[in-house]
Amino acid sequence: MKTKIAQKKKPASTKKKTVEKKKPVKKPAEPSESKIQKNLRTISLLRGMKDITPKDELYWRTAYHKAEEMANAYGFEFMETPALEEAVLFTRSLGKDTDVVDKEMYVFEDRDGTRVALRPEWTAGAVRAYINHGMQSLPQPVKVWNYGAIFRHDRPQAGRFRQFHQFGCETIGQRHPCLDAELILVAYNFLKDLGIHANVNINSIGNLEDRQNYTIELVGYLRSKRSYLCENCKKRINKNPLRVLDCKEESCAEVIQESPQIIEWLGEESKTYFMKVLECLDELGIPYILKSTLVRGLDYYCDTVFEFFEDGNEEKSQNALGGGGRYDMLVEQLGGQPTPAAGFALGLERVISILRAKEDNKNLLEKPWSKVFFAQLGDQANYKALKLIEEMRLQGVIVRHNLAKASLKGQMETADKLGATHTLILGQKEVHDGTIIIRDMDSGNQEIVDQNKLIAEIKKTIKTAKPRK
Ligand code: AMP
Repeated sequence: MKTKIAQKKKPASTKKKTVEKKKPVKKPAEPSESKIQKNLRTISLLRGMKDITPKDELYWRTAYHKAEEMANAYGFEFMETPALEEAVLFTRSLGKDTDVVDKEMYVFEDRDGTRVALRPEWTAGAVRAYINHGMQSLPQPVKVWNYGAIFRHDRPQAGRFRQFHQFGCETIGQRHPCLDAELILVAYNFLKDLGIHANVNINSIGNLEDRQNYTIELVGYLRSKRSYLCENCKKRINKNPLRVLDCKEESCAEVIQESPQIIEWLGEESKTYFMKVLECLDELGIPYILKSTLVRGLDYYCDTVFEFFEDGNEEKSQNALGGGGRYDMLVEQLGGQPTPAAGFALGLERVISILRAKEDNKNLLEKPWSKVFFAQLGDQANYKALKLIEEMRLQGVIVRHNLAKASLKGQMETADKLGATHTLILGQKEVHDGTIIIRDMDSGNQEIVDQNKLIAEIKKTIKTAKPRK
């Protein structure tokens, strides 16, 4: 077969001579190795993005562990919605004239032509899932917690990234002052358990009617101060006046400070509701600061709104550790039955940056492995080592090792760098005798033990081991 096929092919020299002569196409020269290397630029992180590397591991694991523990303690169940959603989910929820939607959301058309967005917050996705999964037929309220990456094309600076992480809780299905207070309690205790003393800034923005009445007053005031406002806020007066109260520009600060206070425009129901939230917080012993200009930057909020700051670090808005509030209209706005709800989200990069700056992080998790290193010498010991390491793991002792390293000296150096208090040494002789050496890394003393007794022996050793000198 092979030869037949080969015979069918015309040899190059039998090609018709009448064929128009083409200019010989110059084959591009193969790039030399040095050229390839020159062209290979290293690829950097995108602006505003951050790697979480092993040196950050314990901070991130501690934060996750604490979030899970705290959410579960108050009856919240885990829920994760996709990072990618239809863009309209967020424009309809957060509001068109918000910074998040107008300036920060990552929006693009996917390959099917669907306009999609990377989630710029958790709440809208949680509400969509509540509706899609018919959760209104479950016992109410439905309490969910979420944890993961959020994307905003923000201006990168200290504490501000384009991909960051939030831990959040949502209580969907009921309206009660205790539920608002419970959300504040979960966030407050999460921070407290991590050793962060937080202050809670709180306000009420009432219901739609309250806000409409207040807005008339606010617009009149802002028009009278127009010349002092930044260019953005001048536009906001007509488009979205409440948003002026959120402005971070220094020029607007004084105008905001003296603006009419929304709390004075609340109707009886809103006022009573807010007073009850404050009473709950008093009862729980959670300190709070009433902040009349706090409105939060998104359209879906109503009534209670709050933000968390580290005590003594409240000057700038980018210091906020998190925030939240009630959003009683959102489920309906997204096509569900009228369903009250509330929630919060905490920014984990800011929480972790506080933990990193602390000298005493008592609550930080530890790496799961012991301070024991396993060194081996020779082929037989190499294979046996893997088996022994596995047996130890099954008995709850995790040891560090480098089975690819042949030299004992090299392995001892690694053990030293890793701060091992003890090294197990397995050579050909020990494999043969069914023994293993336990070496004390400080004193250099060595003990030979039976392999069958290794696990019991090493557990004893770990218990009494003192940290390396
Ligand atoms: P927000 O819903 O915008 O108030 O965000 C809640 C929390 O997420 C903030 O208080 C911050 O801790 C955090 N956060 C918001 N935007 C960013 C960002 N661009 N980079 C880092 N953390 C952020």
